[in-house]
Amino acid sequence: MLLALGWLASQDVPAQARTPGPDPVAFDRLVEAVERGDRVITSPQEIRGVVQELDALRPREDAMRELRLRGFRCDYDDLGPPASGLAYARAGLSDARRLQDVGSQIRFLLCEGHYIDGSGLVSQSIVPVEAALALARKHEDPRLLAQALAHRGGLRSLVGEQAAALGDFLDAQRALSKAGLKKEAEAALQDIAVAYRRMGDHAKALEYLRQSVAFAEREGYWSTLTIGLLQTAFLHEDLGRLDESLAVLRRVSALALQHGLEYDAAAAQLGMASVLVKKGQWDAAELALSAASDGFDRLADRSNEGMLHLVRGQVHAGRGDHAGAIAQYLEAGRAFDIDPNLRYQVDLYAARSLSQEALGNYRAALNDLKLERSGRRKLNEDARTQQSLLLQYQFDTARRDLQNAQLQSERRNQQKQLAMIRRANRWQAAALVSFGLLLVGLVIVLVQQHRRTRRIHALALTDALTGVANRRHLEAAAAEAVSRSRADHKPLSVLTFDLDCFKRINDNHGHACGDRVLVRIVRECEAALRQGDLLGRIGGEEFVVLLPDTAPDHAMQVAERLRESIERLDLSDIAADIRVTISLGLALLQAHDHALGDVIDRADAALYRAKAAGRNRVEVEA
Ligand code: GH3
Ligand code: MG
Ligand code: MG
Repeated sequence: MLLALGWLASQDVPAQARTPGPDPVAFDRLVEAVERGDRVITSPQEIRGVVQELDALRPREDAMRELRLRGFRCDYDDLGPPASGLAYARAGLSDARRLQDVGSQIRFLLCEGHYIDGSGLVSQSIVPVEAALALARKHEDPRLLAQALAHRGGLRSLVGEQAAALGDFLDAQRALSKAGLKKEAEAALQDIAVAYRRMGDHAKALEYLRQSVAFAEREGYWSTLTIGLLQTAFLHEDLGRLDESLAVLRRVSALALQHGLEYDAAAAQLGMASVLVKKGQWDAAELALSAASDGFDRLADRSNEGMLHLVRGQVHAGRGDHAGAIAQYLEAGRAFDIDPNLRYQVDLYAARSLSQEALGNYRAALNDLKLERSGRRKLNEDARTQQSLLLQYQFDTARRDLQNAQLQSERRNQQKQLAMIRRANRWQAAALVSFGLLLVGLVIVLVQQHRRTRRIHALALTDALTGVANRRHLEAAAAEAVSRSRADHKPLSVLTFDLDCFKRINDNHGHACGDRVLVRIVRECEAALRQGDLLGRIGGEEFVVLLPDTAPDHAMQVAERLRESIERLDLSDIAADIRVTISLGLALLQAHDHALGDVIDRADAALYRAKAAGRNRVEVEA
């Protein structure tokens, strides 16, 4: 990630050509030439050559340039296993602080982050990276600022905060283009692609990857190219295009060998192993796995430990050795626990559940199945939240793009399910005459049709900004809630609430901030409500909560809780000094009510009184 911005390639003179004496101006020029991409570097060997060259150019007593050289090595050179890299970065940092060299401090902080990351602790590496970013903002070096932003974006993307990551990547690009660093800006395109991929927007991801790969090919940026191709391969794998994925991975492997990119070579092997497992080619998968783990071992890189165990477990399982598989999954689980990543964990649960089932451990299998299901649900929710948040970054021209992408990914899921139905029906089909076959086909088409309309229906039922029920959904749910309440003789309470003086927030901080506030308020309310309660958005900043089986005094407590938690809500990350409160109205379903609309009207009247009485309070229907 750190290297991707500056790791350059192709033609140009061999590195050790000149035999220079101390020359600070030539030193600066060479550093700049490498960083700009004018002096191209094709291999780790050549980097070592440049380092020697710089070392010779550096005046012996020049402490700043000595530090600059060390910072340069941090960016480009291979400093050995993560532990040595980390020690190197920290020593550099303390010297940079002593000499009050801010640029070098930023470089060493990023370097520190990079090597913490390499030891498999993504969540901890954010600390030095944030520190680097804070310094870079003050330091006014666009390249360092872009590097720090891209680095933080990469980490955020890894832990699932795709909207925030995209914001960072975009800011990084802006900083680079503003400084006229066009090549670097273009090389950073793939960061954006990765974030889109993780958010489930495969079409956008592919679009950015194509641009980035074409650019890297044109310029001969081998490392950028292999990373772009790796991402393309993962995308194909996500989409179930296994053969395409394999073909791209083979190309990465060849390129990486040719250009001495050991990490990428190992990553390509691991990718192949994962695809080969999906194709049921256990022997080939095992070969690829050994190559991958040998490669990572040579680099002392632990960041793929969990994935290696997971895929190895799948190979065991594929060959029927489920006990062996479980042992591997245990190791994978440990690695994932150290550095949690839900996307990987969900795959682990799914795999482990199958082996537990095969071993007759039904309870454990069921447990894993539940974990998998709740994990997937969480991932879907996260994707939705991220997509909503993304709107505020104005990355997308239209909201419809996102919805289309969502529909497409739903459709792919349907197709997967259909494939399962087809498999299950195969024996039947064999037994049936052609008429039967036709019938099965018809049923499949119908099921598909039904699912699709149901999906489209579901999309039409949620509010695009906040993801909660929209008015239409609420009306449908309300009818059901009313009849259930009457059938069960249980009370049904209804809350309506409206943000206080929300117009002022829009006026003072802008509409985008207002949107973020709305999203946060909804999240807060969701957290404060029970499972069976239904929260819906019925107007711009007006909401309804249905509280089934809830008597008025209890509903009053719920309302108070909502009011208090919104009042306490810390929104300082959206804008300094934003505070927001809500006013609520409470009403109860009565025997004479025709529909829920009547109750909502009474709750609204109470809400109106709450506003009149000074806001930030709850009023009950008269
Ligand atoms: P009060 O309800 O306390 O009487 O004051 P208010 O300022 O909240 O009331 P009013 O109903 O006059 O204004 C509501 C504002 O909410 C106006 C509108 O711009 C804003 N709003 C409505 N929908 C959205 C939305 O989706 N996003 C944002 N950012 N603002 C919205
Ligand atoms: Mg209003
Ligand atoms: Mg209002």
